[in-house]
Amino acid sequence: MKSAETLLAMDRCERLAAWSQSWQVPAIHPTEVLKAAVDAGLLTDEDDPGQLAGDMVMTEAAERTLDIEGSQYSCAMNLAALADIIVTAIRASGGPWARPADLVGKTMTWESGAFLEPSGLRLRRVVLVSRWNSERFLAETNSWKCLGEVSIYQMPMTMTVVLIGQRRDGRHHSPWSKGWLHPQSRTLRIRKRSGEFDGKWIECWRETSDFNKEFWIEQLRQDYVLNDVLFEKQIKVPEQGVMAKIRHLAEKKLQRLAKMTETPEPTLSACFWPTPCKFAKGACWQFREPSERTGFVRISGSDCVAVPKA
Ligand code: SF4
Repeated sequence: MKSAETLLAMDRCERLAAWSQSWQVPAIHPTEVLKAAVDAGLLTDEDDPGQLAGDMVMTEAAERTLDIEGSQYSCAMNLAALADIIVTAIRASGGPWARPADLVGKTMTWESGAFLEPSGLRLRRVVLVSRWNSERFLAETNSWKCLGEVSIYQMPMTMTVVLIGQRRDGRHHSPWSKGWLHPQSRTLRIRKRSGEFDGKWIECWRETSDFNKEFWIEQLRQDYVLNDVLFEKQIKVPEQGVMAKIRHLAEKKLQRLAKMTETPEPTLSACFWPTPCKFAKGACWQFREPSERTGFVRISGSDCVAVPKA
């Protein structure tokens, strides 16, 4: 796990942070697959970075089960098309992106999950969200992935927000994935124009349509939707005193995790919100530790922290 992710896990539940250093669940959450694929697409120097991201989703879904109920295939197809089009839209303005170098300090090494602009003077981050409002903005800007990274590198950040809609029946419902076809002309529309849609327009999913991603992105632009589902927020550098306190807090927490010798107490009120914890089903709520016998996978070469013992 990247340092900011570890700290986020620490804030939620220390047991989650400790176990995450050593254990993976066999079934992977779809959002995790999507994020990893988008990151890979942003970093690659392949000719078609979107295609790489989509292929990565399909490979992950084939090698590890997706943590969903319902059709694995239709969920994987939807995620692959989503990863492909998001990466294509973001990379239209340039790339490949890069990671900032890890910062090695006396007492901690910060492994960044952010990106670095070619100028080397500004961080970047991509946030995939089902919906966006002022509370979410506040939560994101104050999270370790934003305020933490900004304080560690002492650089401002551009946060690219991508609205991917809610996932229902294994598919994300948003203009990236779903449009409408005219019953006769087969014209694609993403957003209703006045008096245009009636019950006869046909639902059209990107992963099963004949429209390529470039055409779909252009349609998002023409229907004035693109700026609603893909936009940027600028994060300033806080004053030096604040950044020093945040760096100190990060260091203290990561050190505490590294020195743990016992499994931390469970934090039961954090197990199912905002998303179900990966250790809820097979470990904590059956009052046992993760183990290979119960389907967990030990992370090989785990070198971040001592593995806490029961
Ligand atoms: S299931 Fe609950 S107690 Fe267990 S690691 Fe996750 S958040 Fe912590």
